[in-house]
Amino acid sequence: MAKINDNYLKLKAGYLFPEIGRRVREFSAANPAAKVIRLGIGDVTRPLAPAVLKAFHDAVDDLATTDKFAGYGPEQGYDWLINAIIEKSYKPLGVSLKTEEMFISDGSKCDCANILDIFGMDNVVAIGDPVYPVYNDTNVMIGRTGEADDKGYYANVVYLPCTEANGFIPSLPTQKVDIIYLCFPNNPTGTVASKAELKKWVDYANANDCVIFFDAAYEAFITNPEIPHSIYEIEGAKKCAIEFRSFSKTAGFTGVRCGLVVVPEEVMGTTSTGERYSFNKLWLRRTTTKFNGASYPVQRAAAAVYSEEGWKQTKEIIDYYMENARIIREGLREVGVTCFGGVDAPYIWLKTPGGMTSWDFFDKLLTECNVVGTPGSGFGPSGEGYFRLSAFGHRENVIEAVERIKKNLK
Ligand SMILES: *Cc1c(COP(=O)(O)O)cnc(C)c1O
Repeated sequence: MAKINDNYLKLKAGYLFPEIGRRVREFSAANPAAKVIRLGIGDVTRPLAPAVLKAFHDAVDDLATTDKFAGYGPEQGYDWLINAIIEKSYKPLGVSLKTEEMFISDGSKCDCANILDIFGMDNVVAIGDPVYPVYNDTNVMIGRTGEADDKGYYANVVYLPCTEANGFIPSLPTQKVDIIYLCFPNNPTGTVASKAELKKWVDYANANDCVIFFDAAYEAFITNPEIPHSIYEIEGAKKCAIEFRSFSKTAGFTGVRCGLVVVPEEVMGTTSTGERYSFNKLWLRRTTTKFNGASYPVQRAAAAVYSEEGWKQTKEIIDYYMENARIIREGLREVGVTCFGGVDAPYIWLKTPGGMTSWDFFDKLLTECNVVGTPGSGFGPSGEGYFRLSAFGHRENVIEAVERIKKNLK
């Protein structure tokens, strides 16, 4: 009899989004006339930028010709895309990277999960709380954790609470860890880390031989010029950090699928016999063995994001979402709601009024305002008492949702 991977049984049932769906369906069935506005999901709503779409179409047409037809490409991505990203997105930050240090993929969720392949099982991981659930659950699946306790904390994982008291930037761990997940701008809290704050983490990682997984999926939403877009803007980060980026939120690629990982050659781990070994070499080996590359038209479309026209149009879409964020943030503040984020990230993390639980506030918004958001407690125990609203909606829906909430809470 084939055995299953028992680690999967440790997972708590995918509770958050199915439960939201269930409550919304139930409400809509009972109140068919209610116009429900969804500000819950972390998915984009604007179409692709015209220049990006044109490159996508042209690349599909290439496939119809014998001279431009593209079959298997390099597993780690085409040089023309990698070099465009390095030149247009990293060089302006003062960060130089080698072509061999960047790997193109079909998205960041897979990358965050797959990177665990090249790390030994006895590493201790530190994960924020609240957090993008993928970091935690992929460690459970691979077998690095014990069972979950009543709160949802798994044994053998170090959780780093991100609270109002620490400005949603976790404190350094007090016990020895080997891998640290950081995500800035943050999902779900919408908060960012300054250079000084990231420097603290980089120095800690270098002093303690840790590797930082830096998820920069939302870097394109940063508006404050003082906030770093890449962890490599911090001195010493190339020795200790692996960075993840995605075209999903930046350029509306959630359905198109393209992401990237930067694994600098200097990031080292130790072998079981105590020698230093480059993670870059392992990731190249892993990629060329288990992946056959993101599709050719998708990589052409991604490269067009960095064309002059493509970037201008992409930036306009980002500005549209950030204007939504401003409308939500300022509207809620007018009626006395404490809000975080929404300035350098497309998420507003609000404190539930009157100390309501996250789910009670969810029900209140749904039934009284017909607005759907995401309960903070779904992202981890420290998210209890908070609530996430997303700025990825259509403008008129965002305006109406905010008006309804304001009227209700006044
Ligand atoms: C949306 C998101 C990503 C991107 O995932 P893709 O697989 O590239 O679509 C990565 N990290 C976080 C925290 C996200 O919210």
